Amino acid sequence: MSSRLPNLQSTWDEILSEIRKSVNPHRFNTWLRPTRQEKLESGTLVISVPDPELQQVGEKFRPQIEQAIRRLHLDGTVARVEVVLTSRPAAESVEAAPAAAPTAAPVQKKLEFDTGSLKPEYTFATFVVGGSNQFAHAAARAVAEKPGRTYNPLFLYGGVGMGKTHLMHAIGHQTKALGRPLRIEYVTAEDFTNEMISHLRHDSMIAFRDRYRSVDVLLIDDIQFIANKERIQEEFFHTFNALHGAGKQVVISSDRPPRELSQLEERMRSRFEWGLTADLQPPDLETRTAILMEKSQLERTKHPHTLELSPAVAEFLASKIKSNVRELEGAMIRLLAYCALKGLPVTIATAEEALKNLLNQQQRKLDIEIIAKAVAESFNLRVADLKTRNNSQHIVFPRQVAMYLTRQLLDASLPEIARFFGGKHHSTVIHSIRKIEQERRVNQALARTLAHLSEQLR
Ligand code: ADP
Ligand code: MG
Repeated sequence: MSSRLPNLQSTWDEILSEIRKSVNPHRFNTWLRPTRQEKLESGTLVISVPDPELQQVGEKFRPQIEQAIRRLHLDGTVARVEVVLTSRPAAESVEAAPAAAPTAAPVQKKLEFDTGSLKPEYTFATFVVGGSNQFAHAAARAVAEKPGRTYNPLFLYGGVGMGKTHLMHAIGHQTKALGRPLRIEYVTAEDFTNEMISHLRHDSMIAFRDRYRSVDVLLIDDIQFIANKERIQEEFFHTFNALHGAGKQVVISSDRPPRELSQLEERMRSRFEWGLTADLQPPDLETRTAILMEKSQLERTKHPHTLELSPAVAEFLASKIKSNVRELEGAMIRLLAYCALKGLPVTIATAEEALKNLLNQQQRKLDIEIIAKAVAESFNLRVADLKTRNNSQHIVFPRQVAMYLTRQLLDASLPEIARFFGGKHHSTVIHSIRKIEQERRVNQALARTLAHLSEQLR
């Protein structure tokens, strides 16, 4: 993530901040706080402890350490953790431990904050308000001003890329910024689930409950993730009740409104509606343009050499990409990078050129999808079946037909077809196309099916 500052925090510090979320504070202080990173070399992370008794820390917290490494995507960097005994005193005395000081200081500082998991740029200041999200935005602001005392719970819902996560982080930042000593916890329902499973496995559910039931503001993202998971729901239900009952704020997000979370228990659905439910609709052209302008400014503050985006080009992009703000942002970043690399000005013409591939690709994927769908339907299958690695005959044949038609109708390249239909080798695609080609000459029924499908698709 670009927001991480690798120079200020050692790898171990990052891991510690992550572990701290799931370990009770007393255990953390006893076991983990005294540890320091010594070095990270060819996959081995060496940490030191000041006391022989603490040397088991690696073993004792192995699951948490492994989980943190995975979650921070450090798997490629840290293959093993080694614990050594340091001869230096662990006291924070700078003269006594000059080498440890640079890493020691940030750990201390970092640990005092709860906002570690909040993305710095997702604030209210950077959130563009328009008709599509105005209500949700106002509700989020009200909650941040007076957590637990206005709308509780606040339930935000809307499609992918509509700004739900952004608003939740903004609530977290704002609550902090108002200087109140509140414990704020942001977690995705998926992480909540994984953490719970890991605690169940290690028989540490008490710590898990302590952690979640002692927060002042719980921000739980993408709750639909737990809809079909009974045990997790049960646990969340109790957490929710404990917090709500104690007047603590709960903010929930979902891709649909509570009543449409059909796999969720009724008692939960109705509870989610106790407070306020607010939806985020797809932003209109004007809002999308404003969001792009905001993002390009942010990009320039992070990377001063980023080219400038004019409102006209922003509007052009916003008019081309309507589905999802995240994709829109991606397109902008690509455009700016393209112009910077080629030394071109950022104009509508260059935008057209830079995005041609992207837009074509999107269109093509859509087209292959349509062909696959028609073929799947005529064989009573689903598109997903054609894309699997399943090689039983009742799937192989329709898949060959679909590949053949994709080649005929779209003139799609072999790798493109291979990729779409479950990542086959393109020799498989060649073979499939030849096979259908030959077969149609002798098989009347197949010839009719092909003619019929082509007719329908043209
Ligand atoms: P969701 O959680 O609803 O899928 P996100 O909050 O992750 O969506 O938003 C996707 C991206 O779009 C983020 O980079 C976010 O900052 C941006 N975004 C969405 N809506 C807005 C908005 N109204 N103002 C500024 N940025 C936005
Ligand atoms: Mg989200």
